[in-house]
Amino acid sequence: MAKYVLEVEHLKTYYYTYKGIVRGVDDVSFKLEEGESLGIAGESGCGKSTLAFSLLKLVPPPGRIVGGKIVIDGQDIVKMSESEVRSKIRWKKISMVFQGAMNALNPVYTVGYQLAEPLIYHKGYSKKEAIEEAKKYLEMVGLAPEIVNRYPHELSGGMKQRVVIAMALILRPKIVIADEPTTALDVVVQAQILNLLKKLQRELKISIILITHDLSIIAELADKVAVMYAGKIVEFGPLDKIFLEPKHPYTQALLKSIPRLRGSKEKLEWIPGTPPDLRNPPPGCRFHPRCKFAMDICRKEPPPEVYLEPDHRVLCWLYGKEKRNSQG
Ligand code: SF4
Repeated sequence: MAKYVLEVEHLKTYYYTYKGIVRGVDDVSFKLEEGESLGIAGESGCGKSTLAFSLLKLVPPPGRIVGGKIVIDGQDIVKMSESEVRSKIRWKKISMVFQGAMNALNPVYTVGYQLAEPLIYHKGYSKKEAIEEAKKYLEMVGLAPEIVNRYPHELSGGMKQRVVIAMALILRPKIVIADEPTTALDVVVQAQILNLLKKLQRELKISIILITHDLSIIAELADKVAVMYAGKIVEFGPLDKIFLEPKHPYTQALLKSIPRLRGSKEKLEWIPGTPPDLRNPPPGCRFHPRCKFAMDICRKEPPPEVYLEPDHRVLCWLYGKEKRNSQG
């Protein structure tokens, strides 16, 4: 039986702005197995990063989790206080490789200090022990241990990203979220970082949640894929099903917008329009103003969640015929 390290149920995270309520994550559910990698894909503003910050209970104000459950290792962290999450969950059970390595590192502290601090604070290591441990983690991510004495500005972009990955791993969490881990890196370094993440996942048996707008990165690393649109997961399934037999019109359009090296030449497609304003999303299916298959019911009723197979689900009226018929 599958062992889940993370179970997210009907999660809702809203931002209470003076212009209205932004429904950044709106009724999202999924499960992550031990050692599995899940790619979360979608356009900018679809709620991917809000979901990532929700999983760490680090949603910046005016945002907050307003409903649902996030169960990590059997504990619902939505119900936990900030001090409990800080001392028991964050970085110990779930950590994050933040977007943009330069911003994730403090420019006035050495790499060694930044790696050692959580060991001293959370695990009671002495400074000397923590620095020795930090050196091991630098080696694990392919860097020389002497880098402990360097400042972030003395490192290249790829080296900084490796340091940020070492920071995410240093307390040996079971789940690591990587938010756009290769943004702003050149393609050679991107490939190195992706290979490193794969190696670490295999060796440390961690579960990875990879957040990116770049489907080619998901194809490299993920076992399962969640496609998000306007705060909702519109399709969820194993990598091969999503890439070879995508069912949701949004997933199909996203995949058709990627250039392919092999196969017959096809004109690249694009998705007309822009993602909706999440303060006032369209009624019915949120994708209907951009969907070439939109029907009357799509404009009126939110689509049902349909399980095409036990591990492949889609949020779309095209597959919800029985429900559509029962609603007349
Ligand atoms: Fe398109 Fe309707 Fe499916 Fe939405 S529910 S994706 S509008 S067909």
